[in-house]
Amino acid sequence: MQRDEQIFELILDEQDRQIHGLELIASENFVSDQVMEAAGSVLTNKYAEGYPNKRYYGGCEVVDIVEQIAIDRAKALFGAEYVNVQPHSGSQANTAVFAAVLKPGDKILGFDLSHGGHLTHGSPVNFSGKLYSPVFYGVDQETGVLNYDKIQEIATKEQPKLIIAGASAYSRDMDFARFREIADSVGAILMADISHPAGLIAKGLLNDPVPHCHIITTTTHKTLRGPRGGMIMMGKDFENPFGLKTPKGETRMMSALLDSGVFPGNQGGPLMHIIAAKAVAFGEALTDEFFRYSLQVQKNAAAMAEAFVKRGYNIISGGTDNHMMLIDLRNKNISGKDAEKALVAAEITVNKNMVPFDDKSPFVTSGIRVGTPAITTRGLVESDMETIVELIDRVLMNHTNEDIIEQVAEEVNELMGERAMFVF
Ligand code: PLP
Repeated sequence: MQRDEQIFELILDEQDRQIHGLELIASENFVSDQVMEAAGSVLTNKYAEGYPNKRYYGGCEVVDIVEQIAIDRAKALFGAEYVNVQPHSGSQANTAVFAAVLKPGDKILGFDLSHGGHLTHGSPVNFSGKLYSPVFYGVDQETGVLNYDKIQEIATKEQPKLIIAGASAYSRDMDFARFREIADSVGAILMADISHPAGLIAKGLLNDPVPHCHIITTTTHKTLRGPRGGMIMMGKDFENPFGLKTPKGETRMMSALLDSGVFPGNQGGPLMHIIAAKAVAFGEALTDEFFRYSLQVQKNAAAMAEAFVKRGYNIISGGTDNHMMLIDLRNKNISGKDAEKALVAAEITVNKNMVPFDDKSPFVTSGIRVGTPAITTRGLVESDMETIVELIDRVLMNHTNEDIIEQVAEEVNELMGERAMFVF
């Protein structure tokens, strides 16, 4: 077969973009060589429907061991009793949990998408808002921070079956113990979606949801620095409180319901190459080096937030506890859409983002979201954050000036071009 030069040249172009640009998308990271190697391995050829030692296909002896290692490492990393490493993505992890614990039409309480929540937490354009009945909590307009008394009020009024604690664009730590009190007061299941801060949580740098939340979902490719994928965990298994039965009419433990929510409920064959890459990434995340990396992610975000504030930028909630921040650009007279476009032209990648109480559409938005996981993998430290913020500020204040944008792009290439792509 002839080599597909068209696609491989495009892959090289993308590699070049990743090497020479400044990657500030809060949900992205760069995996290590060995994670990449596992993801690109012969395990992609294997069908393995089912779970280790309970498969519907022959020849699974090797992949059984791989999946069990991934499970065991994830358990050690998060202190969890139950882990399912098969969800193809964060969205599919959430889909599987909902399928396991809810019936269509059940009420769910999630973080408002326009305040920082995720599509799968009840947005009307997503299955979660179409199949279930969503209600939302959000941040206070004045502080930009969650108000737990208000969340309690909403929960008491709405009596949801499931409460979701988690977000895609919230820069503060979450009080999972308080969420659990709220969930218990209305008999709801509490699910934490830690897709964004998972790596920082694993290394003890943020509040731990595992002792407090019934179920925890996460992606594996953000602060956790693994391959694209999802995962479901529980600190302790428990009997499904709603008495939901399996299709055969049996009452089962949550572990069994969650497993069948993933397969056969929502997926067919697991991506064994990705599960191998997850195992490698969890092995890396268990090391002290990964603690130092995660701490640096957090320190870089704090330094970046401080540099933005010094330049008069309005960070929602005034700062950050984790790896990211949401910047309201309304006082800078530029939309999120225009900011994203100008920054991308300067080889600084961010995403436009709605800010709480935004008056612009999701296609335009008033803000941008920035994060430090990827640039920290490239070896940048606190002292680089002032430089980056100065570059961003120069672009945003001159976003129609092509010469200035080109000059910034050159400075970005100088800053990033010589740095190693991977740290491990
Ligand atoms: N949950 C949260 C909080 C997220 O931020 C994301 C991704 O951005 C997801 C779920 C979905 O992950 P995926 O894109 O892998 O479906």
